[in-house]
Amino acid sequence: MHTLIFATNNQHKVDEIKSIPGINYQIISLKEAVINIDIPEPHDTLEENATEKSTVIYNLTGMDCFSEDTGLEVEALKGEPGVKSARYAGEGKSFEKNIEKLLSKMQGIENRNAQFRAVLSLILNGTEYKFEGICKGIILADKKGEGGFGYDPVFLPLGAQATFAEMDMEEKNKFSHRKKAMDKLVDFLHDFSKKNK
Ligand code: IMP
Repeated sequence: MHTLIFATNNQHKVDEIKSIPGINYQIISLKEAVINIDIPEPHDTLEENATEKSTVIYNLTGMDCFSEDTGLEVEALKGEPGVKSARYAGEGKSFEKNIEKLLSKMQGIENRNAQFRAVLSLILNGTEYKFEGICKGIILADKKGEGGFGYDPVFLPLGAQATFAEMDMEEKNKFSHRKKAMDKLVDFLHDFSKKNK
């Protein structure tokens, strides 16, 4: 089976992507590939950061790989925290502090519309391909649920009855930005391997 390295140290993301059924590739995390590296996210866009992460791993290993960069884009905050989602409350800050900052900025704001946007960068045979997935929803005034990670407890996806933090992975994958982007990547790989047989 063809192997793809998933260029992330975020075990939640690895678990989510591995829980998607029907991927005919062996996906291995950086940890499983015994690559101990903290990949920087120095850019102002998700697209550039995704490219940075996959390129670092491709240059290190020469292997096919993909990376993912996600941001929570809140309409009333003009797209914030966006590319800064992981470090919204400051460098090295926790999911908890990031949520606190978001909720305090949104106090009294009626427009709660937001979206998660995931950008995947795949490097296959040395060429890069990008895929995007969006999940629209709203930001609640208080946290609900204990599961997931990041902003999951305050994000209610459009059409859902529960926050991401109240869902198991299978349920989250019915709505998730990452799953939507991953579906596109998997379709692409499917077509690619048919053409290159
Ligand atoms: P990054 O793609 O690792 O830079 O992720 C940025 C930040 O976005 C993470 O630290 C989380 O706070 C948040 N994030 C990314 N994906 C999700 C998700 O599926 N649910 C909730 N928060 C997320």
